[in-house]
Amino acid sequence: MVFLDYASTTPVDKEIQDSYFELINKYFANAASSHKLGVVVDSLQNRAREQIASYFGANSNNVIFTSGASEANNLALKGVAFNYANRGKHIITSSIEHKSVLETCKQLETIFGYSVTYLDPNSDGVISLASLKSALKEDTILVSLMAVNNEIGSINNINELASYVKNNSKAFFHCDATQAIGKINVNFSNVDMITVSAHKIYGFKGSGCLIKKDNVTLTPLINGGGQEFGYRSGTANWPINVMLAKTLRLAIESKDKNYEQVKAMHDEIYNVLINTPNVMVNSPKEGSPYIINFAIKNKLASTIAQAFETYGIYISTISACSSHSGAKSHVVANTFKDDKRAESSVRLSLSKLTTKEDVKEFINAFNKIVTSLKDGN
Ligand code: PMP
Repeated sequence: MVFLDYASTTPVDKEIQDSYFELINKYFANAASSHKLGVVVDSLQNRAREQIASYFGANSNNVIFTSGASEANNLALKGVAFNYANRGKHIITSSIEHKSVLETCKQLETIFGYSVTYLDPNSDGVISLASLKSALKEDTILVSLMAVNNEIGSINNINELASYVKNNSKAFFHCDATQAIGKINVNFSNVDMITVSAHKIYGFKGSGCLIKKDNVTLTPLINGGGQEFGYRSGTANWPINVMLAKTLRLAIESKDKNYEQVKAMHDEIYNVLINTPNVMVNSPKEGSPYIINFAIKNKLASTIAQAFETYGIYISTISACSSHSGAKSHVVANTFKDDKRAESSVRLSLSKLTTKEDVKEFINAFNKIVTSLKDGN
């Protein structure tokens, strides 16, 4: 079995598993309890919060634990939209964001009367500063742009985009950094809110956080007992939150080493794909080496993915969150303005666990599949 779908999720590191079980076997109290047992686990959780905040230059009381990136994106967008509606009701995002951003924007438009500008990327999947400049208006309250695209791996210049917004408007800047953290370097210093997910970096599914700067106040989406500084009520899943800090530490510490290893494998695959007739590579050469997206002319993505599966190789048709809907890749469609190409696009994604043998098996299968699909088999 060759798993090449790590952008959809990763296995949980053994070190994280061990620490988690140790923790839950030792403690079980509610972090909101005022007795000693509660205070102990609350302090563990607060230490984790401080550790996470330190990686992003934030204050620990601005780390809001969530169930993952989807929830963090919802909280950032709706939280700002609702809280600052009196300033304006215009939002800017891109047409290739994750669905948790796009569907939230759609809801803000259709139910709550906001207006949203969806910037299209250039043919490298990158949002240009010029397009952001021309979209920014007096009543823009929020700009939400991702660091690394989860389908094609394109990388936005977040610091350039965020600093422009900071210096030229009153809008807040949110960055979905789900596919960037622990993988590439991003300068977040001018970003007001950052979305993080654990299960893309060997942590637990259902774990993530939104990190915000002091200047941002959000309208909570879940009201109740006031946990997470009132932003997200409900009994804290503190062992998972404590593990998020460790997950981030391990990912950040091993980032550079893993990058080099993955980049070499990426380049080997990329060179094969780019030189194969009837194959269109959708990922920019200088994108994240963790993601390679390509299309085979006139073949459906599902046919291509199934062909790989017969060789025991697991790749993705489109982002896992929406692959059951049978839709084409909105990212490829909006990047290349080509629906046929979007229907024929698949993604493979690498990780620190990918081996040279995996790469060899992928390339062998790829060569056979391209030939057999060309022959109409
Ligand atoms: N944003 C991006 C860029 C992603 O890749 C994903 C996961 N596919 C998400 C958001 C949603 O993450 P989660 O599964 O943690 O909700």
